[in-house]
Amino acid sequence: MPQMPNTIPFRKSLQAKPLIGVTGVIFVISVFVYIVVPLVAEQKMTDEMIKHTKGIGSISASSLSSAVFFEDIEIVEKVVQDIREYDEVRYIAVFDAANKVMYETQKGRYAAGLTAMPHLKDEYSIIDSSVILKKAIRNNNENIGFLLIEVSLRSVQKEIEQFRATIALFVLGSFIFSIVAVILLFRPIMQRIKSLVIAAESITQGALTERAPTKGNDEISHLAIAFNTMVDSVVRLYNDISYTNSNLEKIVEERTAALMNEVEVRKLTEENLIVARNKAEESNRTKSAFLASMSHELRTPLNSIIGFAQILREDEDVTARNKHYLDMMYRSGSHLLDLINDILDISKIEAGQLDLYPEQSLLADIVESVRSIFSVKAAEKDLLFIINVDPFCPISIIADARRLRQVLINLIGNAIKFTEKGSIKLLVEVTDTSPEEGTYTLLFRVIDTGCGIDSSQIERIFKPFMQQSSRYSEGTGLGLAISSKIIEKMGGKIQIKSELDKGTEFYFELTLVSPDFSHDVIPHKDDSHRIQATKGQNLVALIVDDVLTNRVLLSVILESIDFECHEAENGKQAIEMIESLNPTIVFMDLMMPIMDGKEAVDIIRNTMNNQTLPIIAVTADVMTSSKESLLEIGFNDVVSKPFTIEQIHATISQFVHVDAEDGIVEGDNSHTIMNIILDEDKELTIQSTVAALLTLPSEQSNALFAAIELQDFEEMLHILHSQPTDNPWLTKVTHILEKAAELYDYKYFSKLLEEYFITK
Ligand code: ADP
Repeated sequence: MPQMPNTIPFRKSLQAKPLIGVTGVIFVISVFVYIVVPLVAEQKMTDEMIKHTKGIGSISASSLSSAVFFEDIEIVEKVVQDIREYDEVRYIAVFDAANKVMYETQKGRYAAGLTAMPHLKDEYSIIDSSVILKKAIRNNNENIGFLLIEVSLRSVQKEIEQFRATIALFVLGSFIFSIVAVILLFRPIMQRIKSLVIAAESITQGALTERAPTKGNDEISHLAIAFNTMVDSVVRLYNDISYTNSNLEKIVEERTAALMNEVEVRKLTEENLIVARNKAEESNRTKSAFLASMSHELRTPLNSIIGFAQILREDEDVTARNKHYLDMMYRSGSHLLDLINDILDISKIEAGQLDLYPEQSLLADIVESVRSIFSVKAAEKDLLFIINVDPFCPISIIADARRLRQVLINLIGNAIKFTEKGSIKLLVEVTDTSPEEGTYTLLFRVIDTGCGIDSSQIERIFKPFMQQSSRYSEGTGLGLAISSKIIEKMGGKIQIKSELDKGTEFYFELTLVSPDFSHDVIPHKDDSHRIQATKGQNLVALIVDDVLTNRVLLSVILESIDFECHEAENGKQAIEMIESLNPTIVFMDLMMPIMDGKEAVDIIRNTMNNQTLPIIAVTADVMTSSKESLLEIGFNDVVSKPFTIEQIHATISQFVHVDAEDGIVEGDNSHTIMNIILDEDKELTIQSTVAALLTLPSEQSNALFAAIELQDFEEMLHILHSQPTDNPWLTKVTHILEKAAELYDYKYFSKLLEEYFITK
């Protein structure tokens, strides 16, 4: 609170302003009166004097007319004496027409004549506190001389000085009077204000009963009454606050206790929440770990089941009946694998771990792979399978092709499953392009003429494990849930149009970046690791896996394409064997006792400093290790269990190339001899090829097919080349067999053998 000052400086006091105001006004008026009034009075008196002098001058000049004319000095002197009667006249002179002095009162005062007084131009002039009058003396309208009279203004000045002194005295008196008056007038006011201040000070210092005196009925007494009322209110408020204060402590104590309780409760809740969250995270981790290990445990035996079923299916010794059983085994294994993949996908989605790996892919490849999967299935059900890709679609797109394919496979698979007659269509259309962004917006539509979906079921079928309630079908009910999440992750949304018993359309739009805009060249697979095998060189594969069946399966596949296979049970053994064996390629399982695959690769790349050896990760764990992370730590490629023979061949082909002369080249499916035959000569079927070869002498044809059976392609080509060249069919067949040997298309050769044995 600001302190009340004990003494107030005069310039700040209430009296100061009126005092300064009044004295100021008096001062200004006095200055005005002191300066202006005497000036006016002086002017007036001077004018009077001039007028008077002029009067004397006029009378005297006419009196002097004849005296000057007759140069009568006596009369002149008499007139001058008359003029001198006037008190203030100091000098009189009479001049004749020639400006010569005829008479003057003080000799020589103006002797120099009027010409020496150039300032004396007019009738009169004021010089040195005197009025000097020059009056012409005329006779018959002719100037015959002039009279000069000097009248002193001293008396005027004296009077003015006295006047000024009187004014000064008056100003001083007014000053003193006004100061005294203001002080006397303000004293009672100041005293009453002072008593108000004293009362306020006393109250401030705690004398709450003190009040300001309120006598009278003027503004100050009103102020005092208002002040006292205010003090009353403040005192009342003060009493209230004191009362509240005395209670406040109690209230604060109670509130603090309550708050402490609340804090305790919150702390407990928070702790419980943390425990619950930790438990949830723990169980999530356990679930992920369980799924990862389950997936691993399921994939490992499945690898053997699917792999061996596939190998045995190709075996010539297997009867048709057993082949059928093997087919069932292969299909069931594949179905089980799909199921495991779906369950893994859905748990990845639930854990928010579904990651996309976009890369440059050919749209045609994606569509073609879908076609190759479903064309047979559709044909089996007598359904028309139509694929139509808008010609304005980009050639290549940046997308996770595996996931996009997965969605299309799910939608088309469903369409075929739920359609009994009519058609299935896959349409890809361009709905928008943005060259600035380098993107295409593609609309994917899967349309069937099947049973349709009830509108009440549409929401339901997108939920995991849900199918149409009225219609049980084979399947897990996970496909759509996974597909819709994948498309959402890619920035789209799967939508449905459906009519019961008429058909269904699933469609979604994706905006995808396309390198077509930048005219980028599609990158070829990296050839830097590709090994050029020279003639006679042994191809050595090291298979590292702790599970015997997995090692055997890979050995069978690799030996069938002329690899010499060696096996190690863990990373440590593998490292020792790499030094002595110098293998062409290594297939390395990830989870193994003693030393796992990742540690082994780390040692091979960093300690042994072997950067060129192709090492392929073989993993049943698709949950925890992404392909990217495995490539980063030094693997060259990843094969996930269960794998197919074709996948192993495709993987090897990236790293090992064998010249045609060496007899073997693994098969890239897109370049199999079947395609070449179709491309080159559509009439040349398996049957006609075998028929052409059977035109050879039986000894030679037997030797030729024996060589094919032994996969001795050198011998086979030798027999062919030793034949006469005049048979165009044989020439064509030779050419094809050369290519098949070059591509090591064992499928083609097994089909030839099959046909050969049937025909024979
Ligand atoms: P699943 O096919 O394994 O049952 P999905 O999630 O792929 O699981 O499909 C869920 C359900 O949606 C199917 O069971 C079926 O009832 C319904 N459905 C999906 N696609 C179609 C379709 N093209 N026509 C009719 N019903 C369909």
